[in-house]
Amino acid sequence: MKHCNSEKLFEEAQKYIPGGVNSPVRAFRSVGLNPIFIEKGKGCKIKDVDGNEYIDYICSWGPLMLGHSNEELLEGIEEVVSKGTSFGVPTEIEVKMAKFIVEAYPSVDMVRMVNSGTEATMSALRVARGYTNRNKIVKFEGCYHGHSDALLVKSGSGTITFGVPTSPGVPADTVKDTLVCRYNDMESVKEVFQKYGDDIAAVIVEPVGGNMGVVPGKKEFLQGLRDITKEYGAVLIFDEVITGFRIAFGGAQEVYGIEPDMTCFGKIIGAGLPVGAYGGKKEIMEMVSPVGPVYQAGTLSGNPLAMHMGYKNLNILKNNKHIYDELEQKAIKLEKGINENIKKLGIKATVVRFKAMLCLFLAEGPFDNFQEVMKCDTEKYAVYFKEMLDRGILLPPAQFEAMFLSAAHGDEELEYTIKCNYEALKVAF
Ligand code: PLP
Repeated sequence: MKHCNSEKLFEEAQKYIPGGVNSPVRAFRSVGLNPIFIEKGKGCKIKDVDGNEYIDYICSWGPLMLGHSNEELLEGIEEVVSKGTSFGVPTEIEVKMAKFIVEAYPSVDMVRMVNSGTEATMSALRVARGYTNRNKIVKFEGCYHGHSDALLVKSGSGTITFGVPTSPGVPADTVKDTLVCRYNDMESVKEVFQKYGDDIAAVIVEPVGGNMGVVPGKKEFLQGLRDITKEYGAVLIFDEVITGFRIAFGGAQEVYGIEPDMTCFGKIIGAGLPVGAYGGKKEIMEMVSPVGPVYQAGTLSGNPLAMHMGYKNLNILKNNKHIYDELEQKAIKLEKGINENIKKLGIKATVVRFKAMLCLFLAEGPFDNFQEVMKCDTEKYAVYFKEMLDRGILLPPAQFEAMFLSAAHGDEELEYTIKCNYEALKVAF
């Protein structure tokens, strides 16, 4: 496969954009390659600027449940644009969108639109701190909630667990109130609550870890978080930026039957346009300005174009709930096919699937937390990734990311993927 035009663009891009990309994982560094530049997408396929076509398992990291350039979704978009792209004063579509989310999520009485998942989690935490009048927050190792300072932390040494900045530029003081616990480990959560419970404002968690490959939260763990936050008067925040409207229409909270106090959304509710949202119980959300004292704002928040696309996307999903079953069946087909390949090749690899979320870990399980995920062979993953790319399959360019399926992925593409998976794994091992 030739990538001359992508290479040229990448060279140019690096002169003007740090690393040539606007988000680090796009640089393909963890698989030791240069990025491909995309020209267009249709259905489950994308075409790069050299004319190579790929079956896409990135799907913009989640928003494109219906695949690329879905006709029903795009219909009428010109008319929306022709009316204006942003006003800075309210529009009707913002009300429709808020009502839609509130009706879809029983735990959400009110919702505020923002422009990204990062903003959603950052704002939810501020509101939770304002509501409880407490400072500390608990997050989990391996969970990603965007790149706001307080959440860019890794675990400290020892079992307790004050965060250490993951990035220069994040002052140690900013993360001193971020406690990091082990995912799926209630003991580590009990320990921090016993010590600091009266000052813990919130626990934020990805109910299904989707940023360390795929690591499903155990039901007892998530229930444990619900119980302990209730006991101590802390706010439980589900970060459903990936899982919301994806693993089920009602997200992870519907699947697990556990209601958080606040929920963060992103990705799917914008259908590929920059959107996020956070919502929750009325008494918490009424802390937000201008009703309450907690400040949070956004020039482009509730942008009419983004709202229109997102609202349409969510309505298509609501009216076609069979998509959820179909997506899961597709994921099961991949899981089964890849598992057979693993068996035939006799290699140490594990497929983890939860609903339609899927990841191939190149190591033997179990994978219940970040430490276990770190056993994976990233060098082998780099070889596997390249072999798949050469066969026209675009996987996440890093071992610790989830694969994303869309309604547009068909049997033919899945079968081809399974066939290539065998060949690529054979080379990698
Ligand atoms: N939360 C989760 C669970 C995510 O997966 C992400 C991004 O991938 C974010 C938050 C941050 O969202 P954004 O990249 O839109 O800022």
